[in-house]
Amino acid sequence: MSMTMEQIALEKKSSATVATCRFCGSALHHTFTDLGMSPPCESNLSADQLNQMEGFYPLHVFVCEHCFLVQLEEYVSPEHIFTEYAYFSSFSDSWLAHAKAYTELMVKRFQLGAKSLVVELASNDGYLLQYFVEQSVPVLGIEPAVNVAKEATKKGIPTLVKFFGQEMAAEMVRDGTQADLILGNNVLAQVPDLCSFVAGMKTLLKPHGVITLEFPHLMRLIEGNQFDTIYHEHFSYFSFLTTMKIMAKFGLTVFDVEELSTHGGSLRVYARHEQDTSHPVTERARELADREEKAGFTRLETYFSFDEKVKESKRKIMTFLIEAKRAGKSIAGYGAPGKGNTLLNYCAIRTDFLDYTVDRNPYKHGKFLPGTHIPIFAPEKIRQTKPDYVFILPWNLKNEIREQLSYIREWGGKFVVPIPEVEVF
Ligand SMILES: [Zn+2]
Repeated sequence: MSMTMEQIALEKKSSATVATCRFCGSALHHTFTDLGMSPPCESNLSADQLNQMEGFYPLHVFVCEHCFLVQLEEYVSPEHIFTEYAYFSSFSDSWLAHAKAYTELMVKRFQLGAKSLVVELASNDGYLLQYFVEQSVPVLGIEPAVNVAKEATKKGIPTLVKFFGQEMAAEMVRDGTQADLILGNNVLAQVPDLCSFVAGMKTLLKPHGVITLEFPHLMRLIEGNQFDTIYHEHFSYFSFLTTMKIMAKFGLTVFDVEELSTHGGSLRVYARHEQDTSHPVTERARELADREEKAGFTRLETYFSFDEKVKESKRKIMTFLIEAKRAGKSIAGYGAPGKGNTLLNYCAIRTDFLDYTVDRNPYKHGKFLPGTHIPIFAPEKIRQTKPDYVFILPWNLKNEIREQLSYIREWGGKFVVPIPEVEVF
């Protein structure tokens, strides 16, 4: 049966719009959640940009029916996102402590010393590598954001300003560089070309080297209703099972895993060359794989319940805010993290609900959140204006923020976190 011209045109149109899986290449047909249109979350605006047109891109997340990789299409180019990245990790105390503890653990467990080389992918301003330097372990950072890499170099952390992938890894090996430890914290999710990235790690790793990767755990995202951790910079959302599958395709074996509380629940995955038997697969790696299997992470239906949970969450947040405003209360935001912008744009929360937000990062002061145009001030603004509620956007840091801002109790102020459920305390 031959197709009419109209059918051919339709066929073409749909094949042009159906996205394919970033890992296995299958067509993506199944929605995980659809948060509508949102601006790139790190693109804070200056006052003179407020009257200009802003780019909004879909936050439509799919799940692959073959490999179960949960993913967002690449709508915004990484060059656009990362060349002037405004996020400096050094500004969170608990994150620094986490980084320091990690370096001590690695030096001890894998006996790193003056002859080793640690390479960090997306090394930011060198906040983590500095602790290896303190322990006399040679380091090399790779960081695509120019302004952030400059800060690292100032601190004496050797840093290459580049996007990591197979091509770069091959060049490094040609120049005689190979790593004993390759680490990537919160970078795997942000890599558009996942396959080139993993292949690059395989190439760069010494025969007995170890890779550790930290990223938010999809299981915790679903359980904890963390829809706001979805944003354009996060292309992929990993279960442990899917991670193992991805690594295996490139000849890497995941031999250990830790479940961490960072970023609402992350995994630290340990991998090595498949032929390197010096690190046997641990019981806890087997246990987590088993737990995910039992929880249904290899069945499509498991992924379908999330979207309705997200919608209900929006209704609850809106109910709280509307009731508070009707009662004449003032509400200020705390923090200007990427995840805040997903939540604010999805729920359409502007200065009609939040008067302003504050952030410890001076780089953000005087700017406005993308899409919602909520102004960002220094934290002192809260003491000056005494809001009834402080709405904590980086809810994963709520305990730290509660301590820092305990003075809001002086005027009867209360904290609110929106995720996993609206909670006032
Ligand atoms: Zn796939």
